[in-house]
Order: sequence, then C-alpha cells, then structure tokens
Amino acid sequence: MPVDRNAVLAWFAELARVYAANREHLTELDSAIGDADHGSNMDRGFNALEAELNKNTHEGIPAIFKTAAATLIKTVGGASGPLYGTFFLRAATACPDRPELDAADIAAIFRAGVEGIVQRGKASLEDKTMVDALLPALDAMKGATMGEMLANAASAAESGMRATIPLQARKGRASYLGPRSVGHQDPGATSAYLLIRAAADVWHNA
Ligand code: ADP
Ligand code: MG
Repeated sequence: MPVDRNAVLAWFAELARVYAANREHLTELDSAIGDADHGSNMDRGFNALEAELNKNTHEGIPAIFKTAAATLIKTVGGASGPLYGTFFLRAATACPDRPELDAADIAAIFRAGVEGIVQRGKASLEDKTMVDALLPALDAMKGATMGEMLANAASAAESGMRATIPLQARKGRASYLGPRSVGHQDPGATSAYLLIRAAADVWHNA
C-alpha cells in the first residue's frame, strides 16, 4: 500500500504524540549540553502543526509539507526550528503532486529534506547534531518494501543518535561547551531519530 494523504496526516499525528511523550527526555538531554528547551520546542511545534493540519482538510501532500514547514519555522524556535522547517520545505518541493507516494518517492523526499538541513546548518557527520542521525538514515534507505526501507533507516538513525554520545560538539549551542559536551547524547539527533522511527512505525505496511 502506498503512502496517501491520510498516511501522511497519520505520521504528523504520531509525531505530535511522540514529541509530547518525549518532551521531558529531550529537555533533559538539552539541559546537559544546551539550554533545556529542545523538548518544549518540539512539543510546541508539532502540537501547533497538528492544530493547523486539522483546519486545512483539503490540502494535497506537498501542501501538507508546506504547512508543516511554515508552522514549524514559526513555532519551534531555537536552532532546530529553522532546520526542521527547511526539511519540510525541501520535502514539499521534492514531493510529487500525486495522491499516492511509493518507496522511491518517500526516499527522494527524505533525501531532499536532509540535504536542506545540511545546506542550511552546515554541519558535517560527527559534529554532534541531528545530521548524525539523518545522514546514516538516508544511506540506509534501501529495501524490498517501504516498510523494510524505513525500518532500516530508523535503525541507522538510532545507531547514529547513540554514536553522538562520545563526540565533542562542533556546531550549535553545545559547541560552546567544548570538551564538556563529550559523554552526552545530542538532543537534536534524538528528535531526528524519533522523526524517522515514527515514519517507520506508521508506514510499516505501506
Ligand atoms: P537551541 O540550540 O537554539 O536551543 P534546540 O535546543 O531546539 O535549539 O535544538 C538543539 C539541536 O539543534 C542540537 O541538539 C543539534 O542537534 C541541532 N543543531 C544545532 N545547530 C545545528 C546545525 N548547525 N546543523 C544541524 N543541527 C544543528
Ligand atoms: Mg536548546
């Protein structure tokens, strides 16, 4: 089964639930190497997005991604707001204006989104950012079915997230801590893993 607009909306509903459930966890991670706002930033943004999407019931899939971009840029704040906003803006541009998306479409959308984050934030692998979860996920987006492809991407994102623990931050607020950023999992890599895990969970039968 391909991903249709209801499946896309189900992903955003799941993200609102997941970021609410992980609000404390993300805030704790950000309190160790940042300013303790990543959990509230993500929860606020995806909660606002859920409200917005419930208002616009006739949007096609690219327009849903555009709404996501605009709402997240407006409501998330911090360094992560513009970055996740860019992800969905690029996703909207890469998304075919068709009622159903197949595995190749989903892979192309994620690729465009992650490339947008890299261009905007200029982080490389091992800078201890969300990019450390996103780039490995992109590399792992292969498989016989969409479910398999996304499960592979989610496990790669999870490994990338855990691999941020021993790294010293070279981008964003955590980089101000220098060597003291070592030994903590990056909050943005964690929220990025959750983003991909949610897609894998919601679209596993697609
Ligand atoms: P802020 O750091 O402004 O408080 P958040 O707490 O919402 O913003 O987000 C912090 C996360 O943003 C970090 O954990 C990191 O993953 C991500 N981040 C920060 N700067 C960059 C960047 N230049 N490129 C990619 N990700 C970044
Ligand atoms: Mg922060």
